[in-house]
Amino acid sequence: MQSEVAFLAYYPEKKRSDNNSFEGNYNIGANVIMDVLGRKGVKCDICTPDTAQKYKVILVSMTSEYDCLALYRAVALLPSWQPGRRFKVVAGGAGMQNPVTVRNYIDYAVFGRGENIICPLIDCIADAKQFEHESVMNLPEISSVNFCQASELYLHDIDLGRGRGRRQWKESFVGCPNRCLFCHYTWARKKIGDGTYYQGDLTMNRSIECLWKDIPKIEKKEGRIRTAIDGFSERLRFAYGKKISNQEIIDGINHIGSFPGITVVLAYNISNMPSETQTDRDELYKTVKKAKPKNRVIVVFQSTPFRPSLLTPLQWAPVTLYPATSDLSARVIYDSDSLRVMHSFSNESPWSQLETVIVSRATTETDKLFHALCFHPKLKKGTVWEKVKLLQCSFDLSPYLREYEADEKHPAWFLSSYTANVKLRKAYDISRQRMTDAFPTIKIERAK
Ligand code: SF4
Repeated sequence: MQSEVAFLAYYPEKKRSDNNSFEGNYNIGANVIMDVLGRKGVKCDICTPDTAQKYKVILVSMTSEYDCLALYRAVALLPSWQPGRRFKVVAGGAGMQNPVTVRNYIDYAVFGRGENIICPLIDCIADAKQFEHESVMNLPEISSVNFCQASELYLHDIDLGRGRGRRQWKESFVGCPNRCLFCHYTWARKKIGDGTYYQGDLTMNRSIECLWKDIPKIEKKEGRIRTAIDGFSERLRFAYGKKISNQEIIDGINHIGSFPGITVVLAYNISNMPSETQTDRDELYKTVKKAKPKNRVIVVFQSTPFRPSLLTPLQWAPVTLYPATSDLSARVIYDSDSLRVMHSFSNESPWSQLETVIVSRATTETDKLFHALCFHPKLKKGTVWEKVKLLQCSFDLSPYLREYEADEKHPAWFLSSYTANVKLRKAYDISRQRMTDAFPTIKIERAK
């Protein structure tokens, strides 16, 4: 018998997998929701945008801001998805932060943990009633919501990656106590459980994931170490809460190089931080050259351009598109017999940065711009620089790029979480004062 509930498979913006069908990928949140429903005897099918109308409830997993673009492109032109449609759409996940751009294609937006919300919500839809909850926004109206926190760790084992690379997953912790000022995860998710980031990597064998500060705790040769520095210079890292000194970077590389064989370190970094200059970038390049590991270490920096993540102290900060982080891709920083340091092959471009910042700072004024972003033929081709310029010629981009003052309405005014918004703003003001250089005024300039 066909189920009345289905998860929507739609094509993701970034080609991480063939589609969001949840077969063969590690979408933990969607798998947890399917597990919750399965335990209540609710069978959950997988549908496509075209087959959605066969169901009463369509579930949409939003893994990042990119999924707002992907969802809009997948459904916005379909007659069966227009307001007044035959089915109800429930969307949630880590990417459910600002639903304004997709508000006409979702009925219920769930913010934060959804495992205790999903069953009563579906029951309500079955009874043709309106569901009300402080963590659920009844769209298309934009109203205040409070992120739902986990009351406990998810109790059950989850079988991820159905069919391909089968893997059991068990939740060991939520949230992080470190309070980096740019990190949505720490400010919007209350810490539960004793687990830490020092753990086996979920998707790779012979690989671990750990904080840079925990590298000295590594006791044996690892194939690959996934970690983060999140800032080119000590000044930036300390100002934004990632307190890793230059000496700790040198010591970390030397420690990894104390084990025989070749070890690869994938270190996530954030580029174009507010007030970042070339001097900050050069500081990292000079620092890594001082490391002298005994055995070969290959360090790859994956730099992601800064976005002012919602519900963080830096949500008010300005955005800088240039110099383009993508121009650093594949550049070798240092090469010797025992140490090779380079930029990753796939750093994001100013275009990707701009697309997602538009989603997270969208207001109802954004509709025309967003529609063009998703469908305008001229924005499907051309270089990154040409597309940014084209968009800038037709629309005012300053609401998405500028700094916001404490006394003005932030585009995501409707969000709140377990950390009070006034506390977030206070942390922003303190970090702002720490920066001796004034934040740059918004310019869209290509590096010379
Ligand atoms: S960025 Fe900072 S706060 Fe966020 S998860 Fe990593 S260590 Fe924790």
